[in-house]
Amino acid sequence: MGCKMAKILVYNNATNRMETYIRGENERMPYNYGKTLTVGEFRGNSNSNTLWTDRTTMETWNQFRAYYGRPIPVGAAFKRPWEGGHSQQSQHYAGTAFDTGQQVLTNEQRAVLRQRARDFGNWSYIEPVSISPTWVHFDKRFGSPACSSGGFPQISIGSRGNYVLIAQDALNALGITGSGLDGYFGNGMKAAVTKFQSANGLSANGIVNCETWVKLLQKTVGIGRTRTVID
Ligand SMILES: [Zn+2]
Repeated sequence: MGCKMAKILVYNNATNRMETYIRGENERMPYNYGKTLTVGEFRGNSNSNTLWTDRTTMETWNQFRAYYGRPIPVGAAFKRPWEGGHSQQSQHYAGTAFDTGQQVLTNEQRAVLRQRARDFGNWSYIEPVSISPTWVHFDKRFGSPACSSGGFPQISIGSRGNYVLIAQDALNALGITGSGLDGYFGNGMKAAVTKFQSANGLSANGIVNCETWVKLLQKTVGIGRTRTVID
């Protein structure tokens, strides 16, 4: 990756503000202490110039790393919906999920890491070995899922943070511009959401509710990089 620099958007849960950092691949992530999580590790195999996460997730990583007491090899964390591969409402799109231990740890070591993640108690979800046998996935989740089956919370005008970024990114990838890529749900984004809803036979209320999340991600996941995406 050489001297490539990433733009990192961080939702500060304590101040309800978005923060922007410019960092190299070998530098630590914002709010990471002791350089236990570099930008390159957080990026994994994402090709994105822009990455995002939130302060609480980074601080939870710090706490878990200290609790576990040794390096945690990260294979991937961040992924954009249009980079493909993941489920419709993956926490990797929010920058709050980690896939760890693949290719470095043995099955026995992964079993210990998974158990330590459970004992730690501050992750929202730890994937069972039946779903991820060769890596250990844990993540942070915020708010109540918009869909009863789980996933992202409903967002609407005035919302801020990681989930707003996912929706903005999806709208941009589909060529519906006007919402930016800044984590703020303003009037431009409301108009973009309404336009998307109208074009897809949904109730055009400008609110990213369950049916809007489902349709937005159905249309975006796996489409590949497009020229309409804002970096
Ligand atoms: Zn994962």
